[in-house]
Amino acid sequence: MFNIILFGPPGSGKGTQSEKLIAKYGLKHLSTGDLLRSEIAASTPLGLEAKNFMDKGQLVPDEVVIGMISSALEANPQAQGFLFDGFPRTEAQAEALDKLLKLNQTEIHVVLALDVSDEELVKRLLNRGLTSGRSDDADEKVIRARIAEYNLKTAAVAAYYKKFDKVVHIKGEGTLDEIFQLLSNEVNGRMAEKV
Ligand code: ADP
Repeated sequence: MFNIILFGPPGSGKGTQSEKLIAKYGLKHLSTGDLLRSEIAASTPLGLEAKNFMDKGQLVPDEVVIGMISSALEANPQAQGFLFDGFPRTEAQAEALDKLLKLNQTEIHVVLALDVSDEELVKRLLNRGLTSGRSDDADEKVIRARIAEYNLKTAAVAAYYKKFDKVVHIKGEGTLDEIFQLLSNEVNGRMAEKV
């Protein structure tokens, strides 16, 4: 197995680059944002609970997203590896993920962190809000709240993985192909180290 965390603030391009990475490396894409939005679309109790937090730009409680990831790992025993997108977003989530992967005799191999300036993030998210249908992209207050949550709680996740020397920073501004090339180079390097 080869497991990647694609890390970065809201609007840094995780979703777009995830699609390209899973296609190239045959990984299973696990996006907690997408999983939560499907729960909301299906009006499940979990979705209804999560929506209250998401509408305000706040993080959904750890136990909710950890439970979702745990089920997704169990549901995909044949996967060649996972690409985690939007997860973990707190140190508690990172610790829980490490434990879950250990139970499956595997681990995170690399954390690819996309760096983008705050002003560029706001611009991209407002622009995405024009077509995405996501209400959390349509309101600048909610966008700024999400970036604040990222700085307050999620940035610490990179520090957590730095202790294990797993973090690589990538400039998340440039063309999609340029950024994908930088990400792929890192994945290729880490994969070669593994064998
Ligand atoms: P973005 O990164 O563009 O904000 P996501 O789709 O990853 O978009 O997340 C949308 C919202 O879903 C977040 O603002 C948060 O409320 C919730 N969410 C997603 N993943 C997590 C997570 N791992 N922990 C807590 N909340 C999450």
